[in-house]
Amino acid sequence: MEKLECTTCRSQKTTLRCGICTEPSCKTCAHLFTEDAFSFLPKVPEVMTKGVYCHTCYLANIEEQAEAYEKTMEAARNIDVYFADQGKETRRIKRTQIKYKIASCEDRDELILRFAFLAVLDGYSTLVDVDIVAEKKLDGTRQKTNYRGTASPANPQPGHTPKDRSIRHNPN
Ligand SMILES: [Zn+2]
Ligand SMILES: [Zn+2]
Repeated sequence: MEKLECTTCRSQKTTLRCGICTEPSCKTCAHLFTEDAFSFLPKVPEVMTKGVYCHTCYLANIEEQAEAYEKTMEAARNIDVYFADQGKETRRIKRTQIKYKIASCEDRDELILRFAFLAVLDGYSTLVDVDIVAEKKLDGTRQKTNYRGTASPANPQPGHTPKDRSIRHNPN
């Protein structure tokens, strides 16, 4: 095998190449991400889909974005979520024109988190009218459940949400 020299530390033990600049990078210096590492973004920038980054390209293209992604995820985990059948609880919350739609997700909780992530990105603190449909699907010979749904973001006025009624506090 061709001997590649890591562009960062000069070690010759590498077969990895940076997805952006294509320079060799050893395992210690490279930054590795899974394919779906940033999949919650509505549109994943091309440079964030490469999976392998040398240290230089990581600093220039990924570090800040990855931090922002984590922060958004953290906030998404903490926003209030109300389902479509909670009309009584959410009747005082002013609705926006925005409606998120996701057609396919394997996990119900992940689907809700994906909606929450979009809401945080758009500057909202709450999800309302969350409507999730589970459909059985045949995947080869195995039956799988696909979840799809819609949700809308909102920024309720103080006092317009009964805090303890969102699923974050009452997970049923
Ligand atoms: Zn190295
Ligand atoms: Zn690079």
